[in-house]
Amino acid sequence: MESYRELDPTNVRGVVFDIDDTVTRNGVLEADAYAAMHLLAGAGFELVAVTGRPLGWTDVIARLWPVRVAVGENGAGWTWVDDAGTHEGYYCDESERAGQATLLERIRLEVESAMPHVRTTHDHRHRRCDLAFDVGESVSLPRAEIDALVALIERLGARSSVSTVHAHAVPGPWDKAEGVARAVSEVLGLDLSSEIERWVFVGDSGNDAAAFERFPKSVGVANVREHLDRLPVHPSYITDGDRGRGFAELAAYLVGARG
Ligand SMILES: [Mg+2]
Repeated sequence: MESYRELDPTNVRGVVFDIDDTVTRNGVLEADAYAAMHLLAGAGFELVAVTGRPLGWTDVIARLWPVRVAVGENGAGWTWVDDAGTHEGYYCDESERAGQATLLERIRLEVESAMPHVRTTHDHRHRRCDLAFDVGESVSLPRAEIDALVALIERLGARSSVSTVHAHAVPGPWDKAEGVARAVSEVLGLDLSSEIERWVFVGDSGNDAAAFERFPKSVGVANVREHLDRLPVHPSYITDGDRGRGFAELAAYLVGARG
């Protein structure tokens, strides 16, 4: 990983960013990071938020933050706002999502029975496409138990994805990189793969792995160092500051380079 100052800032069209521990600290959006989003949007960069948080949250984020689209549940769906109103998109169609919901309910019951101390997340009822368990938000589950939970989810037929706060059961083929590509195509009419070098991705942990792999201009905020042993692909660049401070450093660098 090189310093973010080594990233070629010329011709960058947009910034795709994770939320938890990338722009937040202890679950709260950092002032520097929110100001940085406005700085970027004001300078003409397209902003895309992508999170493991629920689609019920992206409905709010898309309305309140200066982003073009907010992708939720690690790529399962997205929300955007334009002159015609608020819209939602999904990675899978309605009939696929119905089948996935059945699988998730089975996983929820099996986990409840096999690991009764493991709880679904507080934001569970705002989710539409995935199922998430609290591993580090209001509890701190030991690593061995997280591994056991992941193994159980996978044995029951879903994929799993683990962030600093949640372990997700993922019943469909999406991930953050795939979800962002579909959302950018639907909302901005752009083929992300044909201009991937024009986009910067910023994240911090395990559920950002697919995006770190996909985006050549991938940046980890400094706290990504805590998760490198669980990341098959490391980001290309790293900020000096952690969390929202790192995001703000990167934003200032990109805006400064635009002149
Ligand atoms: Mg994160």
